[in-house]
Amino acid sequence: MVIFFEKFARLSLKSTFIWSLCPQYSTALTTVGRALIVRSSQLIQHRYVHSRGLGASPANPGAAPPRLPFSRVTQEVLAFFRTLLPGRTITDPDLLKSSNVDWLKTVEGNSEVLLRPKTTEEVSQILRHCSERNLAVCPQGGNTGLVGGSVPVFDEIILSTSLMNQVITFDNISGILTCQAGCVLENLSNYLEERDFIMPLDLGAKGSCHIGGNVSTNAGGLRLLRYGSLRGTVLGLEVVLADGRILKCLATLRKDNTGYDLKQLFIGSEGTLGVITAVSILCPRKPKAVNVAFLGCSSFQQLLETFQYCRGMLGEILSAFEFLDASCMSLLEKHLKLTNPITESPFYIVIETAGSNATHDEEKLHQFLEEVMTSSLVTDGTVATEATKIKALWSLRERVTEALTHEGYTYKYDISLPVEKIYDLVQDMRGHLGDMAKNVVGYGHVGDGNLHLNITSPSKDPALLAAIEPYVYEWTSEWKGSISAEHGLGLKKRNYIYYSKPSEAVALMGSIKAMLDPKGILNPYKTLPDNIH
Ligand code: FAD
Repeated sequence: MVIFFEKFARLSLKSTFIWSLCPQYSTALTTVGRALIVRSSQLIQHRYVHSRGLGASPANPGAAPPRLPFSRVTQEVLAFFRTLLPGRTITDPDLLKSSNVDWLKTVEGNSEVLLRPKTTEEVSQILRHCSERNLAVCPQGGNTGLVGGSVPVFDEIILSTSLMNQVITFDNISGILTCQAGCVLENLSNYLEERDFIMPLDLGAKGSCHIGGNVSTNAGGLRLLRYGSLRGTVLGLEVVLADGRILKCLATLRKDNTGYDLKQLFIGSEGTLGVITAVSILCPRKPKAVNVAFLGCSSFQQLLETFQYCRGMLGEILSAFEFLDASCMSLLEKHLKLTNPITESPFYIVIETAGSNATHDEEKLHQFLEEVMTSSLVTDGTVATEATKIKALWSLRERVTEALTHEGYTYKYDISLPVEKIYDLVQDMRGHLGDMAKNVVGYGHVGDGNLHLNITSPSKDPALLAAIEPYVYEWTSEWKGSISAEHGLGLKKRNYIYYSKPSEAVALMGSIKAMLDPKGILNPYKTLPDNIH
C-alpha cells in the first residue's frame, strides 16, 4: 500500500461570506406540531411588543420569532458590568462583529454588549443582574455551532466563556479532568497528550470550540463510536442558573446514584437552562498505536459491508469509521487544494484504530485490509501510522464542512437514521431537487448512523429551501430518525422538533425551562419551539 504524506494548513474557522438572517421555511409539520405553531403565532401577536418583521408563522416555522419584551441595555446596566468586569465589557461595534455572526455567516444578531467573565462568581453576578432587570442573554463558547444557537437573534447580551480557560485539576490515576467551560478543545487535547491521556471527543472545530459549548450541544464528533457520548463521559458540571444560583454538581465519581442525575439536563440543552461554567470529564489513556486507513469503495452497499467486516475484525481497536462521497472530495480538491491520495471512487472511508500494541494492531488492520481488498469491497487505499500523515488523512474528512462554505449558501442537515438508510436520503434528495441544487453531498459518521447532508446553491434560494423542507424532515421521520443527530436545534431547527419528539415530551421540556428559567432570559428563540418560549 502507498503511504500518503502531505503537510496541511490548519483549519481556519474564518469564512468570507455574509448572508442575512432567516431563510424562508416552508409549511408542513406534523399535525400536532402545526397546530402548536399556529397557536404560537396567535400568542405571539398578543405578547410581543417589538418585531423585526420576521415573525414565525405556520408558513415560516424556521424564521426568527418577533423580539420578546426584554429590557434594553442601559447606561446603568453598562456601569454595573464595567465595575464587575473592568476591561472585559466590550461595547465597541467592531469588536462585537465576530461575536454577533455565526460560523456559517447565516445568522446575525445585533448585540451591543459582550461580557467576558473569568470566574463562576462573575457569571453568577451577571445572570442575577440580568434576571432582575429582565435582560436576555446568549451564552457563547467558540461560536462554531451550526444551527444558529451561539449568536444573539436580536440584542441579547453575549456572555462569552473565552476567558474561562483554566484547567482546574487532572488526576492521572483516574484520568478525570476538571476544567473551566471556556477551555478550547484542542488545548485540552494537547494538555492531556502531554500526560499520556486524550479527550474522549474530537471534532473538526477543535481549534475553536470550547468544552462548555461541546457539553451544551452534546457534541458527537469523530470518537463517539469508541468512547461514547458526553452523556457517559461527563461526570460532573458546575452550572449557573438564570437567576444567578450556582449549582455545584462537579462530581468526579464514576458512580453516583443519589437521586436524579441533574447534569444530564444541561448536557445538550444548548444554553437554555443554565450557563455551564466548569466540567469534569473522564479521559481515556492515550493509545500507544494509532493507524488510519483511507479507502475507496464503488458503492454505498460495499461501504456498509466493509463496516461490518471492520467491526468484526478490528473489534476493540476500532476508534472511528467515517465516510465522504465523491462530491465532497471534489470540493476539497477545488477549494482547499487537498490531494486525493487514492484513485477516484464514488465513496471514501476513514478508519482509525487505536490500541496498546502496535504490532498486534497493524497485524489486525493488515488482515482486515487484505480481506476487504481481495473480496473487492474496497478498490484502493492507503494507510498512515505516523502523526503528520494521520493528520493529513483526517483532514480529508474534517475539512469537508469548511470546503462547503466556498460553494455559496449551504443548507445543512444533521440526520440520524438506521445506518443502511443514510445514503438513500442523499440519493433521494438528488432526484427530488434535480437542477435546483448546485451540490447535494453526503458525509458523516457511519459508525453512529449519522449523515451530514449538505445542499448548496450559489446564494440563498427560498424556492430551493421550500423543496428541501419539510421534505427532508418527513423522510427522516418516516424512518424514525432524528432531525438533529449532534448539532442541536438552535434557532434554525427549533420548530421542527415535533418530527423527532412527541408533543408531550416537548411540553415537558417547556415545563423544565419554565422552572429553571422562569423569565426565559437564557437563549430565548432557541431550541424550544415558539409555542413553548
Ligand atoms: P457555540 O457554538 O459557541 O455554542 C453552541 C451552543 O451552546 C449555543 O446554543 C450556546 O448558547 C451554547 N453554549 C455555549 N457555551 C455554553 C456554556 N458554557 N453554557 C451554556 N451554553 C453554552 N459538532 C458535532 O457534534 N460533531 C462534529 O463532528 C462537528 N464538527 C464540526 C466541524 C466544523 C468545521 C464546525 C465549524 C462545526 C462542527 N460541529 C460539530 C459543530 C460545533 O463545533 C459543535 O456544536 C460544538 O460543540 C460547539 O461548541 P462551541 O464552543 O463553538 O459552542
